[in-house]
Amino acid sequence: MANRKVTKKQAKAAAKAISKAPVWVIVTALILVALIVGGYFVYTKFFQKKSDPVPTPVPAVGEFSAHFLTLGNANSGDCVYIKAGENDILIDGGSRTNSVDDIKSYVDTFVTDNKLEYVIVTHAHQDHIACFAGDNTHNSLFDIYTCETIIDFPLHESTLAVYNRYITQRNEAVEEGAKHYTALDCYNNQNGARRTYELAESVSMEILYNYYYDHNTSDENDYSVCVMFTHGDRDFLFTGDLGKYGEDKLAEMYSDRFRQVELFKAGHHGSYTASNTKLLSKIQPKVCVVSCVAGNFEYAKKSNPSHTFPAQEFIDRIAKYTDKVYVTTLGSPENVSTYSDMNGIVVVSSGTDGVKVTCSNNDTLLKDTEWFKQNRTTPTEWAA
Ligand SMILES: [Zn+2]
Repeated sequence: MANRKVTKKQAKAAAKAISKAPVWVIVTALILVALIVGGYFVYTKFFQKKSDPVPTPVPAVGEFSAHFLTLGNANSGDCVYIKAGENDILIDGGSRTNSVDDIKSYVDTFVTDNKLEYVIVTHAHQDHIACFAGDNTHNSLFDIYTCETIIDFPLHESTLAVYNRYITQRNEAVEEGAKHYTALDCYNNQNGARRTYELAESVSMEILYNYYYDHNTSDENDYSVCVMFTHGDRDFLFTGDLGKYGEDKLAEMYSDRFRQVELFKAGHHGSYTASNTKLLSKIQPKVCVVSCVAGNFEYAKKSNPSHTFPAQEFIDRIAKYTDKVYVTTLGSPENVSTYSDMNGIVVVSSGTDGVKVTCSNNDTLLKDTEWFKQNRTTPTEWAA
């Protein structure tokens, strides 16, 4: 009897334990599921590398990156954002005043203190100064950001309204504390300016001498400020819209200084007037980025489609040195107001693992694009 009683008790306890067991299993399972789901959510939200097409390849501190921005309209122009250590730098603010929103939204993914340490304005054409000039409906970049040092062109011919608005806005920025130097001040190390600025460990910015800093010309493009960034033993060259004679002078002037550059910003948006052989043969660029709206007839006659950006002559010359040519935006031969991303925003980053190119739309080389195949003749160097 006793044995039977014990057995009954045991059975009861066992049954109780069994009836309780699913509750604990369910609770434990629920906790585990919650942990897995929650962990996955936190991982995807904060840690997983996004496949989002907008590029955010933030270089590590002490390194260098140049970001060729798309400008939100069908007009070719320049705006290059540069991250060099802790320094935020803009070279130019084109192409029209309505580009300012696109520029701000991209730059703000990097600039968290609303401050640009350096602003370089190459020359007085609107496709380079519009977003600094602003207008009745668009803020000037000088109003949006606190600019510490502004370096611009010593000479100009322009008397246009956009130039006058640029000067007004620049002078207001100076009144609010910005330092302003011309590129010639920088080259001569005068009036407080410096030829070379150390930006971070192994990263520097050198304002180069352009013949047209102190010689007059009727071509505004030739007044362009020329600047070279150096990260370790790597050089990155920007010559604005400088044309052939100025490029030739630059190549002579820096004959001993120039070595193979990692990056050359295609002169004058890939125009036939720039990126000439004398300069290219000195710098032998490894990568060339063209900031333009490809195929748009804004700057070329309908009778001469090979002169739309990037021009056939430019392609034939650059092909001798590299096939790594990237183009920000694609236009339309039929409609001057149509545009879409070609490579999109092109980012050239220099880090401990070398120089990399990443693009917001795709990484297709110019020579492999449909536009190129339909509109340009393949140079022999690219034919293989
Ligand atoms: Zn231009």
